[in-house]
Amino acid sequence: MSKMHDFHYQDGELYCESVRVQDIAERVGTPFYLYSHKTFTEHLAKIQSAFRSLKPLICFSMKANSNLAVLRSLVKKGAGLDIVSSGELFRAKKAGCPPSKIVYAGVGKTDLEIEEAIRAGILLFNVESIQELGRIQKIAKKLRKKANVSLRINPDVDPGTHAHITTGKAESKFGLDMDTAHLIFMRSDQYPHLSICGVHVHIGSQIVKGEPFVKAFRKVLLFLTHLEKEGHRIKYLNLGGGLGIIYSDERPQTAEQFAKHVLPLFRSKKYKIIFEPGRFIAGNSGIFVSRVIYIKRTKAKNFAIIDGGMNDLIRPALYDSFHDIWPLHQNGTAKRLTYDVVGPICESGDFLAKQRTIQELKPGDLIAFASAGAYGFSMSSNYNARPRVAEVLVRGSRFEIVRQRETYKDLIRGERIPSWV
Ligand SMILES: *Cc1c(COP(=O)(O)O)cnc(C)c1O
Repeated sequence: MSKMHDFHYQDGELYCESVRVQDIAERVGTPFYLYSHKTFTEHLAKIQSAFRSLKPLICFSMKANSNLAVLRSLVKKGAGLDIVSSGELFRAKKAGCPPSKIVYAGVGKTDLEIEEAIRAGILLFNVESIQELGRIQKIAKKLRKKANVSLRINPDVDPGTHAHITTGKAESKFGLDMDTAHLIFMRSDQYPHLSICGVHVHIGSQIVKGEPFVKAFRKVLLFLTHLEKEGHRIKYLNLGGGLGIIYSDERPQTAEQFAKHVLPLFRSKKYKIIFEPGRFIAGNSGIFVSRVIYIKRTKAKNFAIIDGGMNDLIRPALYDSFHDIWPLHQNGTAKRLTYDVVGPICESGDFLAKQRTIQELKPGDLIAFASAGAYGFSMSSNYNARPRVAEVLVRGSRFEIVRQRETYKDLIRGERIPSWV
C-alpha cells in the first residue's frame, strides 16, 4: 500500500510516523486533518533529487495546502511557493518564504494584488492575458519598479484528467495561445516596466502519465526556439505542476520516471527551470479523521453518518474523487459491509465515499480518509455554520495542533447587526 507512506498499521492500530492516531483524536477531538512532516518533506526531496542535474526552483503550489507549519517545513527544505492571491502572499511571507522564491499565477489578479506582489518583490508573475500584462505595466510604472513576467502558454493539450482540473486546452480560461504570446514578445518594448523573461505552462492536475507533459513541453520548446531565433531572451521556464498521485489504483509516474521523460528535453538548455507541484507533495501527506455518529440502514443502503462533511472535505462532492478509508482500529474478524459514508450537511452531494465495502462500522468508530493532504483543508468552508476543523502535524513521535479548531466566535467574526434592522 504505497499510498500510505508514513501512515501504517501496528498491531491493528493506525499510526502517523510514531504517533498513534487514536491518541491524537482523544486530545484534539474529531474531525481533524493530520499531516506527516516526513511525507511532506520526502515528497519534495523526491522531485529535488530526480531533477538535481537541472537545479530547478520548486515552488510548492500552496493552494493545495497553505497551513503555515506545512509551508515552513517545505520552505526550510529549499522550496519556494506558487501563489494565486494576496491572501496566499500574506501566508507565504508569514511562513518565511523569501520573495525571490515566489511565483504568482491566476487569471484574475486585482490591481491591489498586483501592487502588493510588486512591493513584496516576488520573483515572477505568471501572466494569463494581455489585459493583465497592461495592468502590471501600469502599476509597476506607478511604483517606479520593474516587474518580472512570464507568459502562461496554453498549449492546447489534453492531459487526460478530470474536466474540472484540465487547464491547458484551448477552451479553458487559462493562459495565452501561442500566437498571442508571440505578439506580446514582439511588442515587448511597449512594456518598459516589465521584463518579459519567462514562459509558463501548467496543463492540469492529477496527470498520471508522462505523455501529456512531454507533448505540452515539446510545443513550448518549439515556441521558445522560435522566440530565441528572433532575439528574445528567455531566462525562466516554469513547467507547472500537475503530477498525479495514488488515490485508489492509479499507477502514476514516479518523480524519477517523470524526470526521465522530461530531462532530455531540457538538458542542453540554459533555462532556470521552475516546477509548481501541489498534490504530489501534499496529497498523500495528510489524512482526514472523522467519527461515526450513526449507522442508518434503509431499504436501499447502509449509510455511515459521520461528523465530517463536504464542508470539510469537498473533493468527493466536487470531482467524484476517491479517498480510501482506513479504520483507526483494524478488526480482522469483523464482517465487511458496503456503505455510503456521508456527512451531516443538508445536501445530497454531502458524501465522502459511496458504495464502499469496509469492515463493519459502529457508532463511535474512528475512520480516516486517505490522501487528504492536498485540496482538503484548503478547500474547506463554514457551510452549515460548521467551525473549520483542527489541523495537526506529526514529526517523529511529536505532534502539535498547527491550526486550532474554529470556535463559534470565529463563525461570526466581523458580522454586525445594524441598529436599523
Ligand atoms: C493548481 C496549480 C498547480 C498545482 O497543481 P497540482 O496538480 O496540485 O500539482 C500548479 N500551477 C498552477 C498554475 C496551478 O494553478
